[in-house]
Amino acid sequence: MFEKSLWVFHLNSGSCNGCDIEILNIFAPKQDVERFGIKLVGSPRHADAIAFTGPVTRECLPKVIEAFKAVPEPKIVLAIGSCACGGGIWYDTYAVIGGVKELYKILKEEYGIEPPTTIYIPGCPPKPEAIIYAVAMARGLVKQKQKREIYIEELDEKTERDIVEILFGEAKETRHFVPNIVVKTDGGADEP
Ligand code: SF4
Repeated sequence: MFEKSLWVFHLNSGSCNGCDIEILNIFAPKQDVERFGIKLVGSPRHADAIAFTGPVTRECLPKVIEAFKAVPEPKIVLAIGSCACGGGIWYDTYAVIGGVKELYKILKEEYGIEPPTTIYIPGCPPKPEAIIYAVAMARGLVKQKQKREIYIEELDEKTERDIVEILFGEAKETRHFVPNIVVKTDGGADEP
């Protein structure tokens, strides 16, 4: 789709700056990705792709939606770093909605916008080489190396209860916040 060049708008939607530094790194003389026709642009209206770093915070959400809609179609999304991919360690915290997938859910429900082609680059932060590989993939210069795989762990009721008991026991010995977990015993009585 973007055989000649790829202009990228970089959007920090709540990053700690680790991923942003790696993006700057690939434009420095050592990696110099501009030689592949990749360029950062200052406005989403001039971009072919939007590169997200960080989880999407509730504070940023309106601006993120505005910037997303401003990138002309067809566009691609680069989710750079574990936070952009799925929210990272912040995925269930009160101040963030999660990663790009949660953003896509909102875009679909509120605006009827279908998710664009998205390249996920996990890592905290990902290495510059991984970002370059992903961008080269978007340009059609290299092929995807891994197939998409989904792992599902099937637990029987007993295993699930054992896991909760182990976690609960560990939590008692540390200062971690313990949610109000109720473990059901075989006899039907509830234990805290
Ligand atoms: S993935 Fe890691 S380095 Fe990147 S924004 Fe999240 S916490 Fe920071």
